[in-house]
Amino acid sequence: MLAARHAIVESLPATCQVCAAWPTQPVCEACIQRFAPPQSRCRACAAVLPGEPGLCSACLTRPDAAAVQQCVAAVDYAYPWDGLIARFKFRSEPGWAQPFAQRLLQEPQTLQLLQTRPLVVPIPLTAARLGERGYNQAWELVKALHARCRRHPPAPPFDTLATALVRLGETPDQHSLGREARLRNLRGAFAVHPSHTHRLVGRHVLLVDDVTTTGATLQTAAQAVLHAGANRVSALVFARTPASR
Ligand SMILES: [Zn+2]
Ligand SMILES: [Zn+2]
Repeated sequence: MLAARHAIVESLPATCQVCAAWPTQPVCEACIQRFAPPQSRCRACAAVLPGEPGLCSACLTRPDAAAVQQCVAAVDYAYPWDGLIARFKFRSEPGWAQPFAQRLLQEPQTLQLLQTRPLVVPIPLTAARLGERGYNQAWELVKALHARCRRHPPAPPFDTLATALVRLGETPDQHSLGREARLRNLRGAFAVHPSHTHRLVGRHVLLVDDVTTTGATLQTAAQAVLHAGANRVSALVFARTPASR
């Protein structure tokens, strides 16, 4: 059943899944321009900024140094992307990684990060969640980015490591917690796989995830990566929850 659904999504619909225009990509150019316009975002947390790119007030005033130096997001986690991401994650439609990767690569900062030849690492699911879902959507995004960069330079090829990070156990539902509680809840929730530690030493590691809300998950994963010897951590996420939510 899963394989059949994957096959359907690999030849993603020729109708825009937002406005029903036909024939077109899964999300048509008009919808991308309308719902995913280029925006100035905070360099550290990818929150939308009213003016020039820089740091948002929250990042400017954070007391502790952020483990993630730079975070790039393509869209806000809002209509229509929230619904499409739900299909990507929860309805066995991993093929959405293709248009999401395409949109991410339209961000100049994505190409700038990839030009540094980082080691690209997906945020892992717990083993139980991976077993239920059958795929890690963050790894699907990494694979789609990698395939697109190989087919369509200018981004150079980059190394990937699907199992660099291990997610330890279940944590309570993140959505019901505030930022501080999330950080407490997640502390220690990631570990670098011992057999991969040597590959991270001295590297620029680029973490990839589908959605970031407060950035707490990325920060905790980045701390584990830095602890293992990486010299810099950045992040690439498809969608960023708007700061007001
Ligand atoms: Zn459309
Ligand atoms: Zn920020």
